[in-house]
Amino acid sequence: MAKKTIRDVDLTGKVVFARVDFNAPYEKGTLNITDDTRIGAALDTIKHLSGSKLVLASHHGRPKGKRDPMETLAPCAERLKELLGKKVKVTFIDDCVGEAKAAAIAAMNDGDVILLENTRFYGAEEEKKDQDALMAFAKELAEGADAFVNDAFGSSHRKHASVYGVPSVLEPAVMGFLVEKEVAALSTVYNAPQEGFVVVLGGAKVDEKIGVIKSLLPRCEKMLIGGAMSWAFFKAQGKEIGMSYCPEGSPEAAEEILCKMGDHLDKLILPSDVHMQNVQGDHSLIFARADGIRPGWDALDIGPETQEQYAEIVRAAGTVFWNGPMGKFEDKPFDEGTLIIAEAMGDCPGFNVVGGGDSVAAVTQMGLAEKMDHVSTGGGASLEYLEEGALPGIDILDEQ
Ligand code: ADP
Ligand code: MG
Repeated sequence: MAKKTIRDVDLTGKVVFARVDFNAPYEKGTLNITDDTRIGAALDTIKHLSGSKLVLASHHGRPKGKRDPMETLAPCAERLKELLGKKVKVTFIDDCVGEAKAAAIAAMNDGDVILLENTRFYGAEEEKKDQDALMAFAKELAEGADAFVNDAFGSSHRKHASVYGVPSVLEPAVMGFLVEKEVAALSTVYNAPQEGFVVVLGGAKVDEKIGVIKSLLPRCEKMLIGGAMSWAFFKAQGKEIGMSYCPEGSPEAAEEILCKMGDHLDKLILPSDVHMQNVQGDHSLIFARADGIRPGWDALDIGPETQEQYAEIVRAAGTVFWNGPMGKFEDKPFDEGTLIIAEAMGDCPGFNVVGGGDSVAAVTQMGLAEKMDHVSTGGGASLEYLEEGALPGIDILDEQ
């Protein structure tokens, strides 16, 4: 069902509570923002609401319900000021509920922007499982506001007070431009015709991605497995994986796929060769067949034959969704598999989407993000959307 967006409602003169995702990373041990992409991603929505009194709320990091000075949003307010320019009054309020917030809202003029402090400083309330307690906190968050906007795609899979509770007490409750763009891209993937739909999955943990494998394997034409995820499947098949990275729970999850997805297993493609390092001996590197991994060796990337095979499939796809690097791309030369897939995505004339924190970082570092049709800002949220075809924080918004 199509949801209303900020284009469908007139919020001029209203106090708008907008949930954004300003979880911009800070340099370790400091409050220096290392990447302000997430703040920049909300600017279109913020600018569109320049006739409103805009109250922005976000989480930052995992402060575990305590006021952690290293997880304050104050630096994000400073950066927002720089990005919006002198004409916009941006004020940081060091609480997300209570009197200071109420007074600040009362003093606002149309066009002013307030950024509230980290909602997770009230972790127990914000993330409560108990619905009554969560709703009580949501009402405090919503206090003084006339409307809700969700522009925090990366948090929309969470039933948290600021994402899910506030829109159930405020009306209208609509999507911002970032969420609208994410939903448009991911629903295109989710509803892609089976023929020509290719999924590339890599990264580390199969158990975190088992839901998306179950959901997309029946929907796609081919699913290409790479990264450390491959070794979990190898192990489940009884192959030797030596010292290769294989997180706990992953082989069991892979085994579950192999046992339960019988009708679709011909679409699941595993690497035929690997690039591995002798970590117990002279640290030499060699390519090996999939069944040639030996004890004491660490398989760190897909091999050249697999790279070429996967790239060819990706280039010919009608729709591609990619999550998870093909190897330990942070350490050269094990970035090769990831690079070749990223280039093939760029060359593919079909619709292509990349999602996942590390995959997006890899594509961005490689300078190939511009070549993708859509780079998702939400790792967990994009996977859950492709698992369920919906997200709670979006479901709760007003229908068109
Ligand atoms: P995403 O954040 O894109 O969803 P994941 O978090 O699942 O991806 O996995 C990314 C991590 O997996 C990266 O740090 C990468 O180095 C690691 N990785 C992928 N393949 C391997 C491998 N063969 N050996 C060791 N680490 C790997
Ligand atoms: Mg990751």
